[in-house]
Amino acid sequence: MRIKVEWVSEAPVVLSGQEPVADYPALVAVQEAGECTFLEPLQLDFTVEKEFNHIRVSGRVATRVQLACCRCLVDYETDLVANFTVFYSKASDMPVEEEVALTDEDLVSAPYDGDFIDFTSEIEAQVLLEIPYKPLCNEECKGICSKCGADLNSGECGCDRSGSGLAFSALKNFTVKR
Ligand SMILES: [Zn+2]
Ligand SMILES: [Zn+2]
Repeated sequence: MRIKVEWVSEAPVVLSGQEPVADYPALVAVQEAGECTFLEPLQLDFTVEKEFNHIRVSGRVATRVQLACCRCLVDYETDLVANFTVFYSKASDMPVEEEVALTDEDLVSAPYDGDFIDFTSEIEAQVLLEIPYKPLCNEECKGICSKCGADLNSGECGCDRSGSGLAFSALKNFTVKR
């Protein structure tokens, strides 16, 4: 998604729409790496307005993904929603130190150049931030039995697991079919 700079004024403009994940190379890359599967296009809702010497963009990106639980290895679906604000300044007006001063990830300062502001890299970055590093199907997920591999969420398997370390990391590459 991009906007022509001359359309931006002090009166906020609302941009809404859906875009395919295929338009976002960084998201295609995580999908190809097997980290998650995007189930829906990106729903984009942006408010763009001119403010002082920058352009303020308040954005919301929503989609739905399938992830594999890191404990029980079962695939589950979840909504991903990112809300963020970006202040775009003309690259030539942007003091160098501003880029390092703003480190809060939800409040980003970015440069633009030319007649358009392209939101692609910001959208990608915000969606990637929302993908959990250790996905859990449920906060209370009991995982799988380290002895027999049974999904403990569907009941106790009866194994004696006392003293056996739960070696989830060794099981990461397994897929459990139910
Ligand atoms: Zn789980
Ligand atoms: Zn067991």
